[in-house]
Amino acid sequence: MKLMTLGTGGPRLDPERNSSCHVLEVGDQYLIFDIGRGAIQRIAQKALPLATLGPLFISHLHVDHIGEFANYLITSWIEGRRMPLKVYGPPGTAAIIDILIKAVYDRDIGFRTEGESAFGPFVGADVTEIRGGEVIEGEGWRARCEEVEHGHKLPFGELFRQRWVCLAFRVEAEGKVFSYSGDAVMCEELVRAARNSDLHLQCCYMAASSLKSAHMKGVAQYTLACSDTAGKIAANAEVKRLVLTHFKRPTQAELAEIEADVRLDYSGPVHLSIDLDEYHV
Ligand SMILES: [Zn+2]
Repeated sequence: MKLMTLGTGGPRLDPERNSSCHVLEVGDQYLIFDIGRGAIQRIAQKALPLATLGPLFISHLHVDHIGEFANYLITSWIEGRRMPLKVYGPPGTAAIIDILIKAVYDRDIGFRTEGESAFGPFVGADVTEIRGGEVIEGEGWRARCEEVEHGHKLPFGELFRQRWVCLAFRVEAEGKVFSYSGDAVMCEELVRAARNSDLHLQCCYMAASSLKSAHMKGVAQYTLACSDTAGKIAANAEVKRLVLTHFKRPTQAELAEIEADVRLDYSGPVHLSIDLDEYHV
């Protein structure tokens, strides 16, 4: 397997980093994890075959993970995709894609299909909504998802909490394991997804020294793992290699701090990814 980290930033703008998107090459297949801002451009930079990429796994429905949904569906169709894109995501994924295609971009699609279309009929997505514990199998790979904590202990209403499903993924292929935290903080489900993984891709938003305000402390505790816990997650799960992502526009000094913090808790190999990095699993 080969992991390509195409978007290593978060929701905040960063001229060096796009929002979340990672591609896992398994044989001649390309599994995509999240499709945040800038994903298509990074896919082009890697010269990946846009028409045949997929399936697409969505960790959760924040804009930095799904911002290029519509652009991906339309551009990959223009670039030759003739089969619906298989998408696996949390509850709500199908409704979002439906609205994008039928209400937001119906004029765009109508323009390209009116009369003699160079692209043939529009092919959208074949969406399966998934919950924790479900397993998806493809040719030579098997993916299992877990429901992880990403803000669930914030003072949300019960209804919202139930609707807010965030997933981590564990992929087994070629005798190896790749795991992806999605956006999460330390929790039993995340450790289970990453258990003994050959390569674990973990969100790590900020350096511990930046967590000064009550708000930022809350972010690190409830919403996104930061450098005070990312290494602990990797150590608890006994992962063999740790790749960090989802940074909040870090300076070089902050990246050095993040690495030092994480190494206090985790003794295996640690990499701080940047867009377009490649890691063999
Ligand atoms: Zn995010």
